[in-house]
Amino acid sequence: MKLSNIMVPYDGSEHAARALAYAEKLAAALPDAHVFIVHVMPSDMVDAEDLDDGGSLNGVPLGLIDRSAYQGLVERAIGRARDKVAAALQDDIAGMGDAVTVDVVADPSAADAIVYYAKTHDIDLIVMGRRGLGALRGMLGSVSYSVLHAADMPVLTVK
Ligand code: ATP
Ligand code: MG
Repeated sequence: MKLSNIMVPYDGSEHAARALAYAEKLAAALPDAHVFIVHVMPSDMVDAEDLDDGGSLNGVPLGLIDRSAYQGLVERAIGRARDKVAAALQDDIAGMGDAVTVDVVADPSAADAIVYYAKTHDIDLIVMGRRGLGALRGMLGSVSYSVLHAADMPVLTVK
């Protein structure tokens, strides 16, 4: 059984932070383990602040934005979001050296994006929070529920 690529879907919640701490411990005990921390940014909610470029958008006057210009803006926003996640996790991942990757992807569905990322990055195990940022109380959040349902690889949920 191969157990080297561990994915931690990260939404900034305490639950996801506990999942990351667990994955980190697990990875430290395994030879050649790599941890992929992945945040899914809702693609219909790109931060306006990250798009703004002082009155224009990426140098293009408002109203003249075409599709490829917009794509460039979204890519830049993703890059900025990635930097923010990496900065927020700096202390948590400092001890992991090269054995960690921080990624941000944009998708309207966090669960679909998590399952797709896991498939396309040869992930052996997903470690995620049982709950996340949502206010509703219950046993399992909707993202965890959907990932448990759709993923082919083992999924470990952390309380
Ligand atoms: P709900 O979103 O259904 O209101 P919730 O927020 O409490 O409930 P989930 O969203 O299912 O619960 O979160 C469970 C776990 O899923 C989180 O701890 C995190 O590991 C992962 N997760 C949730 N949203 C994202 C996201 N946008 N990007 C990456 N991982 C996520
Ligand atoms: Mg949630």
